[in-house]
Amino acid sequence: MSEFLNSRLRQLVPYTPGEQPRDRQYIKLNTNESPYPPAPGVVAALGERQAAQELCLYPDPQATDLKRALAAQYGVRPQNVLVCNGSDEALHFALLAYAADGRGAAFADITYGFYQVLAQLYQIPVCRIALRDDFSLCPQDYIGLHRTIVIANPNAPTGLLLDCGEIERIVRANADSVVIIDEAYIDFGGKSCVGLIEKYENLLVVQTFSKSRAMAGARLGYAIGSPARIADLETIRCSVNPYNINRLTLLAGTRALAEQEYFNANCRRIVQTRSETTAALQELGFFVLPSQANFVFAKKPGISGERIYRELRQRGVLVRHFDQDRIRDFVRITIGTPEQMQALITRLEEIL
Ligand SMILES: *Cc1c(COP(=O)(O)O)cnc(C)c1O
Repeated sequence: MSEFLNSRLRQLVPYTPGEQPRDRQYIKLNTNESPYPPAPGVVAALGERQAAQELCLYPDPQATDLKRALAAQYGVRPQNVLVCNGSDEALHFALLAYAADGRGAAFADITYGFYQVLAQLYQIPVCRIALRDDFSLCPQDYIGLHRTIVIANPNAPTGLLLDCGEIERIVRANADSVVIIDEAYIDFGGKSCVGLIEKYENLLVVQTFSKSRAMAGARLGYAIGSPARIADLETIRCSVNPYNINRLTLLAGTRALAEQEYFNANCRRIVQTRSETTAALQELGFFVLPSQANFVFAKKPGISGERIYRELRQRGVLVRHFDQDRIRDFVRITIGTPEQMQALITRLEEIL
């Protein structure tokens, strides 16, 4: 590593995103994108405008229209909303704001890998809290931690969900720390805890357009919290990148929120395909965790997760494997269209 690099960053291990290979056409079930396009109105809004005209002006640094639309959607006020370049950016700002001063962070041993990367980047001491043997989270382990807490709900890559009552118990039991609830997958069967922000100053809820709203390429996420929490994060945002959302994404995001019917129908389709896929995998002898997300986490006794991943890849299907203790036997499979899932099952039959 370069001697020019900030010495504190030389050991940094960056996040490994899921593969986006270009060597051939794959059935892509590895990064939890939506198999369906964004709402028709989104595509139309982008097409109607002249991109050249949109691109030559700076975007609205306050994202006024989008914040208003999000506030209306969640029954909060625009001052409760921060919009970000993907929810990864909201997580980044929140950990910088609430954990990078030595206070430290706490999150599960098995969860979204980006939390650990951010913690390393800012030298945040981390307490990893082991999930139970069945990968469920034990709320009792999160009482009075005096650290900033991050919980993905539903969790990734397990898909397991905590209910709002359990979240509230954790938030209430950590009044001196910020609790960040990452709801990237909440629209596939869970109930958001956004309603709790009125009651708890220490709660921050993070969501994204990448999964349920089929806009991973636009890079758009948001955080919802009390006006004081959002003001904290706005200070950071305006110090790092005041124009963090580009004009085309602002337009697309605002338009997407107007197409609630399309959104609901897509979520329902994915939930339906998830239950069909789960049944088909069980039929093949897989153990499948009960997922409330747009993916399933599954393993089959007698064959390693790495081998399933590799053999599927040779047959043109990409899934995600994590070479990590406790979950090495599993693969994470994104829910695609029914046709894509049928292709997956057929190839698994060949492999087994
Ligand atoms: C996909 C994902 C994100 C990041 O989403 P972006 O909005 O695309 O940055 C955040 N948290 C979890 C748990 C995710 O799986």
